[in-house]
Amino acid sequence: MFEVVIGLEIHIQLNTKTKIFCSCPTSFGEDANTNVCPVCLGLPGALPVLNKEAVKKAINFGYAINATVHQKSVFNRKNYFYPDLPKGYQISQFEIPIVENGELYIDFKDGTKKRIGITRAHLEEDAGKNIHEDGYSKVDLNRAGTPLLEIVSEPDIRSIEEAVLYLKKLHSIVRYLDISDANMQEGSFRCDVNVSIRPKGDEKLYTRVEIKNMNSFKFIQKALEYEIQRQIEAWEDGVYEDEVYQETRLFDPQSGTTRSMRGKEDSAEYRYFPEPDLLPVILTDEMMEEGKKIPELPDQKRDRFVNEFHIKEYDAVVITSSLAMANYFEEMIKEGASAKNSVTWLTVELQGRLNSEGLDIESSPVDAKKLALLVKRIEDNTISGKAAKDVLDYLMKSDAKVDDIIDELGLKQVSDDGALYEIIDSVLQANQDKVEEYKNGKEKLLGFFVGQCMKASKGKANPAKINQLLKERLNS
Ligand code: ADP
Ligand code: MG
Ligand code: ZN
Repeated sequence: MFEVVIGLEIHIQLNTKTKIFCSCPTSFGEDANTNVCPVCLGLPGALPVLNKEAVKKAINFGYAINATVHQKSVFNRKNYFYPDLPKGYQISQFEIPIVENGELYIDFKDGTKKRIGITRAHLEEDAGKNIHEDGYSKVDLNRAGTPLLEIVSEPDIRSIEEAVLYLKKLHSIVRYLDISDANMQEGSFRCDVNVSIRPKGDEKLYTRVEIKNMNSFKFIQKALEYEIQRQIEAWEDGVYEDEVYQETRLFDPQSGTTRSMRGKEDSAEYRYFPEPDLLPVILTDEMMEEGKKIPELPDQKRDRFVNEFHIKEYDAVVITSSLAMANYFEEMIKEGASAKNSVTWLTVELQGRLNSEGLDIESSPVDAKKLALLVKRIEDNTISGKAAKDVLDYLMKSDAKVDDIIDELGLKQVSDDGALYEIIDSVLQANQDKVEEYKNGKEKLLGFFVGQCMKASKGKANPAKINQLLKERLNS
């Protein structure tokens, strides 16, 4: 039996307005090579100036993961050649990163939690992009110099499931902190996956393989599945030593496989040395204090939702995984919907409909006020839960008012005693034989009568009321 060992290196682009060492804008999707200047083009003699906003965001992150924030940290040159790196080196941090020794907790469905250590988080600059098209290889340096925070986990992750939970938790933390838009499609949240296997019970770490630059949860999952299987098969076939060695691999989504890109360099090969054009970063006490001011984070929000609204813990985990969803939920409650129904109508009914239309909660055509009103219309017995689903379908496509749709679709529930007795009496009249059986003790026929009444009312009768009034009639 094998155990999987995974450590993740995540690069997030910090959402500062300007780049980390110059004042070029960081905006995405501009014409190639328009957001550039002598500094980020790496022209000789141009000098970097550190962006204070990027530093503040890194400090914020450090405190959010309960880490040590170093008052003094140092930038280094990491030397390597690649066409998207015009200076021939990347300015990064090495021995003394700004953030060290943090942690986060992942939540499993069964309510258990697990701590994942975060070794370090350091500031660095992004490279440009190489684009291969029309028989040319082109370089776009708009991205060069975008501030990155590289977040390195301990090899504490033991399964693909844990890896995904870790990624999602980290993703939500940086979104809560508003230090990155963490948009995976646009590459502002990317991940290098390190993975090895070992016989269960073995404490030692075996050779790891690094899969580079993944930017989708699904691909990370698929790449890990393939890579773990590859390593296990090599072990079982007795060729582990030959086939699993320290290297960098790339995932090919088309074939679902990973393939070798290059041997993995050791850090010594980068010839790191302190960046002579930048002083060490020394944080003032004031900046340190200021950096401790962080908003309520997912774990705290989860606990508060459980205590304040008495919802199930795992529901709270799901809702607080996204700040937008958490805010939506709280607004529904403020509008007077019950917590229990808000959970269902938000996480199941609305979320299901959003998923099938490829929308997220931020772009939901139904806002929290409306969904809350819909829930209240169930709770005040105006409509049935079933009818509410039809109303929600309608709301997804129209910006009409909830009450207008209920009227227009004729969904109002009948709760008026007189009208309900009419329905009940006609059903009992038509089923006198069964009424006889009921009176002789076959009480489970009640369900049959309720069903008939609901049918006769075309689903509009209030089922709880029908139940109550039926019993009164039958037992009188
Ligand atoms: P580098 O910076 O050269 O990629 P590090 O030693 O900093 O190397 O490790 C990078 C990542 O690899 C970390 O997330 C770490 O947890 C993970 N890692 C290290 N050893 C292993 C291993 N044997 N199996 C899986 N992951 C590992
Ligand atoms: Mg690495
Ligand atoms: Zn620039």
